Amino acid sequence: MENCIFCKIIAGEIPSTKVYEDDDVLAFLDLTQTTKGHTLVVPKQHSRNLLAMAPDEAALLFSKIPQIANKIVKNMDAKGMNVLQNNEEIAGQSVFHTHVHLIPRYAENDGFVGKFTEHDYDLQAVADQINQK
Ligand code: AMP
Ligand code: ZN
Repeated sequence: MENCIFCKIIAGEIPSTKVYEDDDVLAFLDLTQTTKGHTLVVPKQHSRNLLAMAPDEAALLFSKIPQIANKIVKNMDAKGMNVLQNNEEIAGQSVFHTHVHLIPRYAENDGFVGKFTEHDYDLQAVADQINQK
């Protein structure tokens, strides 16, 4: 897609530091390096984000994740990994070509901050709302 920075990276028009590539996906280092080895996995076929993907496109993308994630964890000597995927601006998406963040973790204070806050919602009401027509 025109004017998509990740499509340009896939086409080789913009440089990237490649970690993995096959016919369907490209994985390259995120410029920010939130933690050492922070990698983005992108499908070669453009889509805006996960919410816009067909199930088989998403299945193909996510089928590649375990192998790439394990390679990073093993060879970077990480203790674990956060897998993060932002959809739309409110959720932190800044590049509108679907991508999965692989963030290897080394220590609690290694640079990545992910925090869940608790709320006292009526869980059944929430599930009912999700399942309404
Ligand atoms: P998100 O905020 O989830 O949309 O993530 C987009 C990510 O793309 C950010 O973490 C950026 O650091 C990263 N990014 C943007 N441009 C490039 C680039 N040219 N090469 C590598 N990473 C990039
Ligand atoms: Zn694109």
